[in-house]
Amino acid sequence: MKDTAKHQGLRNQLATVLEAKGITDANVLRAIRKIPRHLFIDSGFEDHAYQDKAFPIAADQTISQPYTVAFQTQTLEVTSNDKVLEIGTGSGYQTAVLLEIGAEVYSIERQHELFKRTSMFLPKLGYKPKKFIFGDGYKGLKEKAPFDKIIVTAGAPFVPKALLAQIKVGGMLLIPVGDRTQVMTLFTRKSPKEFEKKELGNFAFVPMLEKKN
Ligand code: SAH
Repeated sequence: MKDTAKHQGLRNQLATVLEAKGITDANVLRAIRKIPRHLFIDSGFEDHAYQDKAFPIAADQTISQPYTVAFQTQTLEVTSNDKVLEIGTGSGYQTAVLLEIGAEVYSIERQHELFKRTSMFLPKLGYKPKKFIFGDGYKGLKEKAPFDKIIVTAGAPFVPKALLAQIKVGGMLLIPVGDRTQVMTLFTRKSPKEFEKKELGNFAFVPMLEKKN
């Protein structure tokens, strides 16, 4: 696992690209400059790692586009000590961004291959979530609820009730909703029964699927 000055230079450039696209959160930009994204992608494709693009990983899944990762993290205003539930561990890159900011992270993945791979790999880089869970994100993680923030990184055909139920009052759920393309949707819990909803533009994610695999 090699990280060189060349990689650092490419990461700095990527952070500049994201700034130009509207990312202003200093913690997010610092995480992007620090995390070796090329190590999250199969070797041989490392030239792609610092372009602002999604890229295929194992089990027909993708590592999200850096802009999307930065946008979701910035929108949720993630800060250190936030208790965060992530649905869709995938490559673990988004997980690493949350951990770099100092959040306490629980991350759920439904594909066993990715769950296994990423739960071995991330700690080797020094990124240690509270827990990796092999499970179905539609259910959330009731035993550790409520969460300050819940981030969904797969396209959901509808908003799972369990996830809304597991955010703290004052907390937020950010979820891309839709089939082919998704509308990034932010729910803020105003009181036990009231949620404010904001729609934040179109994105394209791999689908959120039910049950483990
Ligand atoms: N944040 C990840 C995104 C990976 S793509 C990254 O940047 O690498 C979305 C991931 O969500 C895939 O790994 C997919 O297997 C997973 N996923 C889809 N439906 C899910 C569900 N119901 N529960 C948990 N994970 C799910």
